[in-house]
Amino acid sequence: MLRTIKIDWEHLADFQTLETPFPRPERTFPGIDEINPETFPAFLDDIELVGMGGAGFPTSEKIRANRHSHTLVVNGIECEPGITIDTAVLLHESLWVAAGAEACAKAIGAKNIVLVVKNDPELIAKFRKLYDEFKIIPFKNTYPSGAEKIILEKLIGKRPAPGTRPFQFGYLIQNVVSLRAVGRAIIDGIAVVERPLTLTMPSIGFYKNIIAPIGLSIREILAINNLPYDPAIHIISDSGLMMGKEVSLDDAIEKTTLSLLILKRDAVWREERPCTRCGACNTACPLGLHPFTLTEKIRKGKTTNNAFKGQMAECFLCGVCSAVCPSDIPLVQTLAEGKKCL
Ligand code: SF4
Ligand code: SF4
Repeated sequence: MLRTIKIDWEHLADFQTLETPFPRPERTFPGIDEINPETFPAFLDDIELVGMGGAGFPTSEKIRANRHSHTLVVNGIECEPGITIDTAVLLHESLWVAAGAEACAKAIGAKNIVLVVKNDPELIAKFRKLYDEFKIIPFKNTYPSGAEKIILEKLIGKRPAPGTRPFQFGYLIQNVVSLRAVGRAIIDGIAVVERPLTLTMPSIGFYKNIIAPIGLSIREILAINNLPYDPAIHIISDSGLMMGKEVSLDDAIEKTTLSLLILKRDAVWREERPCTRCGACNTACPLGLHPFTLTEKIRKGKTTNNAFKGQMAECFLCGVCSAVCPSDIPLVQTLAEGKKCL
């Protein structure tokens, strides 16, 4: 995982157009005219849909767990700084997003559809026209507003108890790109074979949103876009600075690839220094956890305590603690290791 934000995003537009530098796939799957709770999960398995917001968990399982929810929440809050793909999909592919949302709502018996987006009045005015049937709720334009736990907290008006899930409060939260995939399958008969993603190289001012074939190598994506990647100088981050991971040219586009960020190595990696006990990580954690205390326990191998395990189960590895740490301590990387103890 990467942990710092030292990139100048000043010139990043709020959204970019959605380009498709690849041929669109042919219809391979019959559309469905009727959505019902019995057949819908099997349909999702047939189109091979997994959570495209990053979870990668089979969507059919999520739908089964969420039957009888009263509200479908369309999560259009970008998951990380610098990623604009949800916004681009909401603006440019509303037909598919709306169809996917309505189908999922019908399948779980939800009476309401809510679109949660970052608080940008100009964009919200556009969304109101495109999604006039949905209720729109703006969220603070801060990271990690798009996390399920944070969305749920705002919807129910209090922090949910540790271990609780949205369906226990009657909400199904689905990422925009996943709903787009459902709509695309229903309307066009196309299974999940393509992935909308943000592609950026800030050092040359390159910012795009594209739709890429799943399985295509990152090497091909960079070549098609003429990006001057040099492994000695750059790293490629898959799916963001805060929660993303470094990938190589030979890795392929996956269903969960939210973005490819090509960054200068010296902007990302810095040497760890001793903790100054400044408390910034505790203050910044959106869940009120104590990241450095947890990190110390993990490093000392003290991971069997139930209180430790409870906090580790809550941590969703957002990386905020690492980003604010003045000593560049790799908190989130250590916490990710600690999760293996659960
Ligand atoms: S990664 Fe850090 S800031 Fe994020 S939830 Fe875990 S402890 Fe809190
Ligand atoms: S932010 Fe960094 S230096 Fe400050 S208490 Fe947390 S780990 Fe220590």
